[in-house]
Amino acid sequence: MTIGISPTVHPDSAELVRSVFDAVDGVAAACPRTLYVQRARDKQHAPELWDAIVAADLLAIGVPESMGGAGGGLTGCVAVMESLSRAGIPPLQYSLTTFSREAVLRYGTADQIRDHVLTTMTGERRFCLGVTEPEAGTNSFAARTTAVRTASGGYRINGQKVYISAADESDHILLLARTAGPGEEVGRRRGFGLFAVDLSTPGIELRRLDIEWHAPEYQFEVFLDDVDVPPNALIGVEGQGFDHLLSVLNQERVVIAAWALGLGEYALQKAVEYARTRAPFGQPIGSHQAVQHPLALAKAEMEAARQVMYSAAAAYDSGQDAGAQANMAKLLAARAALSACEAAIQVHGGSAFVFETDVVTLWPMIRILQIAPINNESVLNYIGERVLGLPRS
Ligand SMILES: Cc1cc2nc3c(=O)[nH]c(=O)nc-3n(C[C@H](O)[C@H](O)[C@H](O)COP(=O)(O)OP(=O)(O)OC[C@H]3O[C@@H](n4cnc5c(N)ncnc54)[C@H](O)[C@@H]3O)c2cc1C
Repeated sequence: MTIGISPTVHPDSAELVRSVFDAVDGVAAACPRTLYVQRARDKQHAPELWDAIVAADLLAIGVPESMGGAGGGLTGCVAVMESLSRAGIPPLQYSLTTFSREAVLRYGTADQIRDHVLTTMTGERRFCLGVTEPEAGTNSFAARTTAVRTASGGYRINGQKVYISAADESDHILLLARTAGPGEEVGRRRGFGLFAVDLSTPGIELRRLDIEWHAPEYQFEVFLDDVDVPPNALIGVEGQGFDHLLSVLNQERVVIAAWALGLGEYALQKAVEYARTRAPFGQPIGSHQAVQHPLALAKAEMEAARQVMYSAAAAYDSGQDAGAQANMAKLLAARAALSACEAAIQVHGGSAFVFETDVVTLWPMIRILQIAPINNESVLNYIGERVLGLPRS
């Protein structure tokens, strides 16, 4: 199957993106899609994937060259995620780690950057992200996990997080917790702290959830019971953790768009290949325009989303407010990828549902992107209010 780069990337980024795509060939050889899906089916991990990402030096991309990284900014990270996803092997932990270290790069001290960012380049430090709680999904302001100052200057954390991806393979969690006292008002600019918490700290318990998707990475409930963390676990300013988190969410939106478009392209290529050869009435089904059109439409929609995605990354990298483009990229990519996946299922007929064909297995990992990390409705709310200037509901 051809998963080569198409020629529609912004010219300024083309060289960088091409070199990342080349490097990912080696990763896909070490951890092909067949291994990835089989490991998921067996409820196991795929350490080959992370090891190959480290070996290809892909984790250095996105860390400034002045700090010993490979540079490339968000554009580079997007290329990594898109190319891995096009190969059918999107690593959620890559997204979580690059997102978390972005928060540390922006708000951390020099020591925190050394501890939490530079160590990610060698794959030594891996982050998961702890925002969602049983009663606080879309509405993160409802978070109840608390971080209370202790006499030693550190914090005692109590609460529960849910759906935390790759918590078992991470050594730290970037955690959002309330630092406001009981009854105190919280908001975007007050009442929360962002903490980098060592997951081996006493008082932390993980319980694996049974999530129906086909990736060798798993989701957990994370229970925090009197977890004492040192003062330097706090990233940025106490009270402004929510704001810190929001300011790096654009990074996450664009990387998630890359996940969507990569997997969507993978599904589309499978559909095209099948449509070329499957011939129940003598002629390949792909010769019928009714079969071609959904595939052609998905291709057009994905390419359009891809343009927005790379221009959002370029805007972010040049220090502009990329909020509108990043949100649009996430929305368009998630929807276009879902159309591609639906078309691929339809083209494959009954065979789409056979495990070995590996088509319906793509659906949960694309469908979830309409909901997480942010649902499409909330993105539309953002565009309605922030781009169109309509009143808040
Ligand atoms: C596979 C998977 C991996 C995940 N990984 C992580 C992780 O690593 N870390 C983490 O913190 N969380 C993670 N999550 C959680 C995910 O981010 C949340 O599920 C998501 O934010 C939605 O929250 P919720 O499930 O509580 O839905 P709710 O907030 O209950 O929303 C339910 C639905 O209501 C609608 N809705 C909600 N609010 C609005 C609104 N304002 N306007 C219009 N419609 C609205 C939407 O259709 C939404 O899908 C993961 C979830 C899954 C399934």
